Amino acid sequence: MPYQEKSRETPIIEETDVIVCGGGPAGVAASIASARTGAKTRLIETHGQLGGVWTTGMLSWILDSKNKPGLMGEIIQRIEGMGGRSQAYPKNSGGVGYDVEVMKLALEEMCFEEGVEIRLHTRVVAAARSEENRIAFAITESKSGREAWQAKCFIDCTGDGDLAAQVGCGFDIGRPAEGAGSEGRQRAGETQPFSLMCLIAGIDAEATSEYHDRTDRPWHVPKEALMAEFRRAGLESSYGKPTIFKIHKNLFAWMINHEYGFSGVDAQQITDATIRARSELHRLISGLRSLGEPWSDIRIVATGAQIGVREGRRIHGRYTVTLVDMLEGRRHEDAICEVTFGIDVHSTNKSHGTGIEGKPVKKKTQPYDIPLRALIASGVDGLLMAGRCISGDFLAHSSYRVTGNAVAMGQAAGVTAALAALSNRLPHQVGFQEVLPLISSLSV
Ligand SMILES: Cc1cc2nc3c(=O)[nH]c(=O)nc-3n(C[C@H](O)[C@H](O)[C@H](O)COP(=O)(O)OP(=O)(O)OC[C@H]3O[C@@H](n4cnc5c(N)ncnc54)[C@H](O)[C@@H]3O)c2cc1C
Repeated sequence: MPYQEKSRETPIIEETDVIVCGGGPAGVAASIASARTGAKTRLIETHGQLGGVWTTGMLSWILDSKNKPGLMGEIIQRIEGMGGRSQAYPKNSGGVGYDVEVMKLALEEMCFEEGVEIRLHTRVVAAARSEENRIAFAITESKSGREAWQAKCFIDCTGDGDLAAQVGCGFDIGRPAEGAGSEGRQRAGETQPFSLMCLIAGIDAEATSEYHDRTDRPWHVPKEALMAEFRRAGLESSYGKPTIFKIHKNLFAWMINHEYGFSGVDAQQITDATIRARSELHRLISGLRSLGEPWSDIRIVATGAQIGVREGRRIHGRYTVTLVDMLEGRRHEDAICEVTFGIDVHSTNKSHGTGIEGKPVKKKTQPYDIPLRALIASGVDGLLMAGRCISGDFLAHSSYRVTGNAVAMGQAAGVTAALAALSNRLPHQVGFQEVLPLISSLSV
């Protein structure tokens, strides 16, 4: 029998033009773009800093940003200007390394400069829709109690689609049932593993270069060398392709952990995975330290405040990005960005390996477009999504989820939401010809 709470009145704390829920790469971009388009914009974030997986998750590595000159380019320029861009990798190395603490500050400053109103330490826990099928309120819990927030337009950038799910939108999670066999059915719903990232100091960059320097070696060589070191210490990392990103000459981000079989939308499972992961990181680093040089002073500086959850809900939208889009290199008239990153599924089940899964299709995938329609919820009016919770299938998500794309999606969602709010229309009523020039003019 569930406990029946007493009904109560929730104060409407604010009425605004656009509310963005979740302050990760997508949410920050959506907020800045919305504010720059002229809308009064509120950003609500559950953790104590902006950046999502970039900062709270301690990621340290931006992918698929090269062809994203807009806000993504601006953020990279900003962190570079603040001395927070890793100089360890050539500009054409396919990724951008950054200093997590500089990223936190840069994102706060950028939002502040645009007049985005920020509320940290506040979680969206419920939502309400009007009789006209429009999302009306986001409801939050925090130290201030339970509060209702009203806006003309909402953007779900929670990564897991929390707001959309709370207002009753349809969604998918994990693998679809592949094939008619029992294995396909058994694997349906499996999701990619979590990874708890950590920052490492106390090692000499030159003395450990064979484990992280990729200047004239392919990616897999340093990973195999590091795995061999763990084995020398009598250990095995749960991620079969342990990876080090060099940030500064004495600061490194490590991705060496995989937590399999946990759901990103179940608080107890996230808790259990976090505790297991932190314990493994300390075990692995202590193991290396016990080997002596070059590891004798190695230290964990910090583990992520939030374990990295690769996938949660994929909210149903007015278009669904699929594997077919990738195979055909599909183009759209309402394209908001081009994704160049390919399929990248971290093994969803330990029994199928502990690294990255092999490509599921023989045909090569092509760069493809994300259409604005994939960012507009189909289940309720007045709601957009940006980042990893947009409308897509399992394999397409494994490609577009990386942060260069999340930022571009946020930028487009922010402009569209602002235009809709300022003209009392719904996002799907805003013509793409109105959005496009504003996305371009927001580019540096
Ligand atoms: C371990 C790991 C490694 C990765 N490696 C790379 C990589 O090398 N390069 C790359 O570019 N991408 C990488 N990715 C993918 C990328 O980090 C994510 O897909 C990306 O961060 C998605 O951006 P987002 O803004 O949609 O979500 P997130 O970064 O997850 O941000 C969501 C934000 O919403 C907040 N939030 C969640 N729920 C609520 C709520 N109910 N109320 C209020 N706030 C809420 C969260 O605290 C967070 O700040 C990796 C991801 C993981 C997990």
